[in-house]
Amino acid sequence: MSSPIESSWFIKGMVKATTDMWLKGWDERNGGNVSLRLQTEDIAPFRHLLQEDRLVAIGETISGLAGQSFLVTGSGRYFRNVQLDPEENLGLIEICADGESAQVLWGLRGNGVPTSELSAHLKSHRARQQVTHGASRVIMHCHATNLIALSYALDLSSAALTRALWEMSTECLVVFPDGVGVLPWMVPGTSFIGEATAEAMLKHPLVLWPFHGIFGSGASLDETFGLIDTAEKAAEVLVKVLSMGGKKHSITTQQLRDLAARFHVDPMAEALATEKWIS
Ligand code: 13P
Ligand code: ZN
Repeated sequence: MSSPIESSWFIKGMVKATTDMWLKGWDERNGGNVSLRLQTEDIAPFRHLLQEDRLVAIGETISGLAGQSFLVTGSGRYFRNVQLDPEENLGLIEICADGESAQVLWGLRGNGVPTSELSAHLKSHRARQQVTHGASRVIMHCHATNLIALSYALDLSSAALTRALWEMSTECLVVFPDGVGVLPWMVPGTSFIGEATAEAMLKHPLVLWPFHGIFGSGASLDETFGLIDTAEKAAEVLVKVLSMGGKKHSITTQQLRDLAARFHVDPMAEALATEKWIS
């Protein structure tokens, strides 16, 4: 029998997000991971169902998050299976005072551990909480097909990728005016890629890992899913445009400025200045 915690908004939300991501084709096998920060009041009704008898090592010391709780996907677990068995594939963890370990409060049944990208998630949570004055609650990573494909064809700069995506769909500049950060290729699952991702997240809500996938952040699962979905849709349009021989015309710099003025956003200056984004 499933635990009453599975009827909470946060487990139901995570099941929906991971299922939608699977259906989008962004999360083959165990690809992708999601973390959602929970508040004390979210957890309070379920306190009596939680355990405090299993610690997992974070693998490094991450300061500034002690006492915070996160619902995370399990390492090696398949998004397509989350809906079938949330307790096996998700885990609710609380960061210990030392910043080196986390208490497993619920889930990750069968000695499961949190995602191998926990370093990137936790450090990105810290960065985005700082930038958004505490509003940011979600970090989402997936293997969005067209964004990965573009990382082989475009210059790997934040300004070039951002400008290219802004031009591929009128809503992009409004949805992500702060643009997309781009890292060099790095080995995943390390503290180094975690550090670099979080540093990029200080400026951008989206960060591309070339030849691997995308990280997105937001205040809710819906907002973060929508952010990645918007960028991935623009990437799909760009893949089609390039496949048809390239662009003949596009949204101009002045039109991007007009959009920004109408929707009261302050677009990333380097991307606005980058008219040539493919060499
Ligand atoms: P996990 O199964 O450990 O979350 O890893 C999946 C992944 O996408 C690594 O980048
Ligand atoms: Zn990945």
